[in-house]
Amino acid sequence: MTLYHFNASGVRPLLEKQKEYFRTGVTRDIDFRLEQLKSLKSVIKRYEKEIIQTLKAELRKPELEAYSAEVGFVYEEINFIVKRLRKWVKPKRMRTPITHIGSRSYIYPEPYGVTLIISPWNYPFQLAIAPLIGAIAAGNCAVIKPSEYTPNMSRLLKKVISETFDERYITVVEGGVDVSTELLTMRFDHIFFTGSVPVGKIVMEAAAKHLTPVTLELGGKSPAIVDESANLELAAKRIVWGKFSNAGQTCIAPDYMLVHKHVKQPLIDKMKYYIREFYGENTETSERYSAIVSERHAQRLVDFLKTGTIVHGGCYNIEKRWIEPTILEGITWDDDIMKEEIFGPILPVIEYTSIEDVIQMIQQYEKPLALYLFSENRNIQEKMIEQISFGGGCLNDTMLHIATPYLPFGGVGQSGIGAYHGKASFDTFSHYKSILKQTTKFDLSIRYPNNPNALKWI
Ligand code: NAD
Repeated sequence: MTLYHFNASGVRPLLEKQKEYFRTGVTRDIDFRLEQLKSLKSVIKRYEKEIIQTLKAELRKPELEAYSAEVGFVYEEINFIVKRLRKWVKPKRMRTPITHIGSRSYIYPEPYGVTLIISPWNYPFQLAIAPLIGAIAAGNCAVIKPSEYTPNMSRLLKKVISETFDERYITVVEGGVDVSTELLTMRFDHIFFTGSVPVGKIVMEAAAKHLTPVTLELGGKSPAIVDESANLELAAKRIVWGKFSNAGQTCIAPDYMLVHKHVKQPLIDKMKYYIREFYGENTETSERYSAIVSERHAQRLVDFLKTGTIVHGGCYNIEKRWIEPTILEGITWDDDIMKEEIFGPILPVIEYTSIEDVIQMIQQYEKPLALYLFSENRNIQEKMIEQISFGGGCLNDTMLHIATPYLPFGGVGQSGIGAYHGKASFDTFSHYKSILKQTTKFDLSIRYPNNPNALKWI
């Protein structure tokens, strides 16, 4: 893959134009916002085939997976928001304390202004467009910077967006780290970043120079825990799906698996079965299995194969960007594979005997973006939710919590700041302005404590 170079020199004047356009107030109009969301949906429909083909060409994404996780996801998000937006934009009447007698209280949502959206390569369409939906819904202008690792999708996003929107309203700026770095020197009103933890820190540091608010959707090591009481058949199926979809390159994929020693072997046997069932006997040629994004990323993953014992998979072809779905046993917490986010189709397995040990170990790590627990035991379920801090997750499933617009999605601690999807997207791109409307019909002297006559009224 050849990385290509752009420069951001033309962006500064464009940003000024967007700020000017925002100040006209056009983007705040509710009918305008709804119209733009509908135009976005129809242009995606028009380019749907091309989007899916591009995902296939760059990441070998299977068609159905590409549809559901990228395009279909975005349609659902638009439908959900369009149906509710009129209600969300209304000022909300709040209660007022007796001390403020005569006045009324409101909260007005208002757009930030011009937002910068920086997106990664793993779901290169959805992760650029889903935040944009929130930005439009809340009445903002937007500059989108897609990942340079999926250049064809970056180009397609540029085409789709420039055909649909005035560049003073929404625009795509293509490029890599240099362009991103340049963009981050500029004064946006909000930055929405999806990507790795180290780059998240760079983004936040740059944003701090202008006190620009940030939303950071980051990553980390998300555990899948399988307790003795779990339904093993479903645990196997759902962990295999969560881990190996998109060849493990999903921010909320189970990164590693902790399994009770009494159920480890039967669980692994079932997982081997479902790997073949879902992705085919030969994943090198399978149409149902994705590629690693680049040879460099493939090499990084292959280095992990030296750890522990391979109990399933382990084959690879770096030139073809193929790594077989792999399960590793005999892993310890001190191994390198347990020190960074894997972000690929390699699942290290650690066995445990006591759930308390599991809780203690996870607590020593950074707070994960997701956590998955497979257990029929209500006490253990509640304990995990109460005692471990993580972005979000599922009981007896993996990844599905991201796919409902009713649940805000985001991390905590090192896995991110802020959340989005559904109403949370509207909230993320809005400032909530508190307004007290005071009466002029009377005035109580008691409210002016420095006034010598303050108490005379009573
Ligand atoms: P990345 O952080 O390398 O890159 C993300 C974006 O930042 C790209 O557009 C890139 O051009 C830009 N960028 C890279 N280096 C930069 C720098 N030094 N300065 C400024 N900008 C820079 O991430 P990635 O490899 O594209 O994606 C994988 C990571 O993203 C994983 O850690 C994964 O967990 C995370 N992720 C998180 C979510 C989420 O919703 N929380 C979703 C997908 C991926």
